[in-house]
Order: sequence, then structure tokens, then C-alpha cells
Amino acid sequence: MSSHPHIVLPWVVRRTRLPLLALRCVACPSGHATTGNGRFRVNANGKLLHVWLLVGCVSCGRTGKLTVHERVPVRSLPAGLLAGYSANSPSLVAATLLDPLIARRNRFALDWDGCWELRRTKLGFSFVLM
Ligand SMILES: [Zn+2]
Repeated sequence: MSSHPHIVLPWVVRRTRLPLLALRCVACPSGHATTGNGRFRVNANGKLLHVWLLVGCVSCGRTGKLTVHERVPVRSLPAGLLAGYSANSPSLVAATLLDPLIARRNRFALDWDGCWELRRTKLGFSFVLM
């Protein structure tokens, strides 16, 4: 049986804003984009849907699109998810941006500089909130 002491760190890491995307701009030398307030674009082509998350270059403001769903049957997406895209749900924007599969598909990395803070907790136990 293990007798390792259980160490509880009295700190929390808290996200203060969404990270920037390390993504090359096609119009200027900038290498960063932001989701800003978070906007999805949904296009229907017959029974197929295309969903993008819009991003803007932090330097020139040029809008780019991250592919979230590409030519998927309308019925394959839960109604709640579709409603979230239509409403530009902030939690859905965050979940989409932080999804590693979407990052890989769209070839961007996240830049977490200045997006988090470390706080000491009063109760002496820690949570990681994302
Ligand atoms: Zn740019």
C-alpha cells in the first residue's frame, strides 16, 4: 500500500480570456488571430451544412474562417448544437477554439500568453477551471 503524502496546492489557474491563435495572416505579416466576441457562420447547401468559426487578424483585422463542420448532414448535428452556432454561444466558441481536433484541422496553435492567472485559494485546495 502506498504511503505517499497527499499534497494539495493552494493555487488555482484561471482563464482570464480566450487565447489568441498562432495563425499566419494571408494579408499582412501578423501571426496572430482572435475569435473576438465569437461568431459562427452556418451555410446550408441542400441537406448539408458547413459551419465555420470566424477569426480576425489582430493586426489588420482581416477575417478568416476556421472549419468546424464541413458538408455534414443537417440531421447529424444535435438541435442544441445548431442553436448554439446560430446564437454564437460564448461557451460553444470557447469549446470550439479549445478543441484540439479543430486546431489540428485548421493548423493553428493557441497562444496562452496573458490569458490566465494564478490565484491562491482561501480554502487550501485547488481547482483548474477551463
Ligand atoms: Zn493581417
